[in-house]
Amino acid sequence: MDYREERIIAHIDMDAFFASVEERANSDVRGKPVVVGADPKGGNGRGVVSTANYKARAYGIHSAQPIARAWRFSEEARKKGSESAIFLPVDFLLYGRVSKHLMEILHSYSGAMEEASIDEAYLDISFVWNYKKAENLARKIKEKIKYEEGITASVGIGPNKLIAKIASGMEKPDGLTVVLPERVQPFLAPLPIREIPGIGPKTAEMLYGKKIFLVQDLRKISEAELYEWLGEWGLSLYEKARGLDTSPVCEGEEIKTIGDQETFEEDTLSPRLLSERLYVMCKNVLGSLSQGGFQTFRTVTVTVRFSDFRTFTRSHTMKNPAAKEDVLRIEALKLLLPFLDKRENPYKMRIRLLGVRIEKLA
Ligand SMILES: [Mg+2]
Repeated sequence: MDYREERIIAHIDMDAFFASVEERANSDVRGKPVVVGADPKGGNGRGVVSTANYKARAYGIHSAQPIARAWRFSEEARKKGSESAIFLPVDFLLYGRVSKHLMEILHSYSGAMEEASIDEAYLDISFVWNYKKAENLARKIKEKIKYEEGITASVGIGPNKLIAKIASGMEKPDGLTVVLPERVQPFLAPLPIREIPGIGPKTAEMLYGKKIFLVQDLRKISEAELYEWLGEWGLSLYEKARGLDTSPVCEGEEIKTIGDQETFEEDTLSPRLLSERLYVMCKNVLGSLSQGGFQTFRTVTVTVRFSDFRTFTRSHTMKNPAAKEDVLRIEALKLLLPFLDKRENPYKMRIRLLGVRIEKLA
């Protein structure tokens, strides 16, 4: 089965960010095992490790570990003749400053950027058109970050945010992993389920109990079953296990995009039903627009997923901001119609999911 999506998304994740920034800022600790976090108080400290650099990780130290434990690992290493780790307090002001600069750098490469955390961001780089060029762009971005801030980043590239995010974690540090759309399924299949963002210890425990350890095991479970076990989150998991994710790369932390989507009870190609549902979504979307404190939109995006899971998004940005429901309906319908005839759907494939989104809100 072909699950092709047309976007190209990059996820950029700094390597051991806090520790890397400390190394860069402070020549005394450069090249040494560095642990940023709570005060270890000679092994009696409470609190946890925020970030350990790769030299410290070689001692068994990792983030979220109790700081006292990290201290013991460092002591063990010292007794064996290695350098002991340097423990530093968290300096949010410094990391915030560096982060701000890094985000500016990233934003200069694409207008569509989403800050996912202090040291991670998504870039929509669909404009490069192909994965070879996407890979070259990622190399440039990595070099720029290294040159400007002296730290390394790992980049993942794929057809959506989910795949890009998983990919960026594959070859850390200083990694670059490209997952072509046709490689999404073999890429995901052998991964442990914990690699799927959102599967925490609780969900994992439940799934292990059902002998589900790998993504390929998870894929054998029906949508209905996952819904029964986990509710709405189960439905989303069903899609994630197939590498599907339609969420847009959106700027800023606030909502700058408002959308609604629906997976139909039965796949359909009925123009009447589809336009009806489309209108309902337009109404919902405009309702949320005013609730979000916005009045106008300029971009309308329609997402169509066919019964074979191929997913397409089509957008149109208007010259002038619009506010009316009939404008949204007309724009959305114009984007949907080609999927109902041979322009975008020559084999009359039925539609599984339909979504509408508005962007460039004001
Ligand atoms: Mg990171």
